[in-house]
Amino acid sequence: MTTLFDLILEHGDVIDGTNRPRCRADVGIQGDRIVAIGDLGSAESRLSIDASGQVVAPGFIDVHNHSDGWLLKMRHFAAKTLQGFTTEILMADGISYAPVNQFTKPQWLYYLRSLDGLTMQDDRGWQSLGDYMQQLDATTAQNSATHIPYANVRSMVSGFGRRRLDDFQIRQVQYEIRKGMDEGAVGLSTGLDYIVECFSTTDELVAACQAMSDRRGVYVSHVRYKKGLIPALTEAVEIGRRADVPVHISHLKSQPDCDCDEIFAFLDRARQDVELSYDVYPYQPGSTMLNYLLPNEVWEEGPLAAIAILNQSEMRERFRQGIAAYKLDLDHIRLAWVQGKANAPHIGKTLAQFVEESGQSKADALLNLLIEESLAVLCVMDEGDDRLVHPMLNHDLAMIGTDGIYYPDSVVHPRVFGSVGRILGPFVRDLKLFSLETAVHKLSGFAAERFQLRDRGVLAKGAFADAVVFDPAQMQDRSTFADPHQTTVGINHVVVNGVPIVRDGTPIDDFETEPPGRFVRAG
Ligand SMILES: [Zn+2]
Repeated sequence: MTTLFDLILEHGDVIDGTNRPRCRADVGIQGDRIVAIGDLGSAESRLSIDASGQVVAPGFIDVHNHSDGWLLKMRHFAAKTLQGFTTEILMADGISYAPVNQFTKPQWLYYLRSLDGLTMQDDRGWQSLGDYMQQLDATTAQNSATHIPYANVRSMVSGFGRRRLDDFQIRQVQYEIRKGMDEGAVGLSTGLDYIVECFSTTDELVAACQAMSDRRGVYVSHVRYKKGLIPALTEAVEIGRRADVPVHISHLKSQPDCDCDEIFAFLDRARQDVELSYDVYPYQPGSTMLNYLLPNEVWEEGPLAAIAILNQSEMRERFRQGIAAYKLDLDHIRLAWVQGKANAPHIGKTLAQFVEESGQSKADALLNLLIEESLAVLCVMDEGDDRLVHPMLNHDLAMIGTDGIYYPDSVVHPRVFGSVGRILGPFVRDLKLFSLETAVHKLSGFAAERFQLRDRGVLAKGAFADAVVFDPAQMQDRSTFADPHQTTVGINHVVVNGVPIVRDGTPIDDFETEPPGRFVRAG
């Protein structure tokens, strides 16, 4: 009996995601699974895609991003699928939209407007992590997986203040984390420079992680970068060791006070103690919310109370002192996006330009901007030499997280459009930092293995049919700091759960049935 395939990706160079050398083969798909890899020359198929002269690889996995809100609102997030991403692991940095209760939900929707894109009008009634992720099942072109964001958990248990958790509250935290793992999360994310979680202690985080050690949930951390890189990494490793969970560091990069050699020496010691990995985006400059500069006290009664606290004269003074202490280089920080129309003409300007045009002092201009925009201001730090990330990417513990933040009508960081184009084009093809097989492994198999995304991240018989067909000679990022809304070129076809979502470089938006992306549970 001859097999009838639903889809064959023909004559491509197959790079299977495990770091093995490529081989010429056809990939045969039935339903949502790969059922054969080899010479399928005589087989019949409902659809075939010619991949000759191109690479066929597993769909890419973005392990750190801020797509949480956009995937709720957009059926096809083309900025990402045109980089070959078929799965996004959501709810990074410990801050997101679920889990929430009726008190914390409006607080998170308000706080996250300049990071993750939802507004109060987007509330569809979810509360638990499972509820939220269910809304992304069969509603988007790409798959989603999720972390349990720690600040959401802590704020449900003890509000937004700096109180220490008591024994009862620790048990509540552990209950919520177990529940999140039951709902399919890959692990716990933290962002220890951000609100709520900046108040958590090492002991508290150990207790939190113990609740997922039997499931091998991963402790994923945007570490306390504000405290210095090595002390911050030391804490993350201690948490993993004491709680007996794997540790994954988010968007690791060299710092002015800590170079790559020092970081690698640290990692090589630490990997003896814990299962370790980290993610990188292929740019040195970063991006975050301007409200990151506010003193922590501003947030202690919750984001919705922050403006009233900020308007107090003693808090203005503290902000002024903080701005002086941070030694910010305003020439190299740009306004990427603001919420309101009135300040929209300033998008793309440096903060130095903005301050000068305002005629006010630095502190007053920035504080007034934050107040006018109800704290929703996104910035890009346009500084640092991109070559600094080459060794960080090259290390065997590194995988890829774009940390992409998206807004239409913005001058966002180009990483949301260009990360894969830049890695597979300039970094791998042109500079030969590492092999294409290794690049694909970092983008797929390694991520799936670390986060227990079973039967994903590899091209193998029986695996889910998430695949990308690209032309290595064409791979290129086009997105720039000045003009970021430019998609990556070179990705020609993308398949999710057996269904094409990109054909000949064009994203598909009208699916015959429901969109193929699923909520992918760990384990
Ligand atoms: Zn982060």
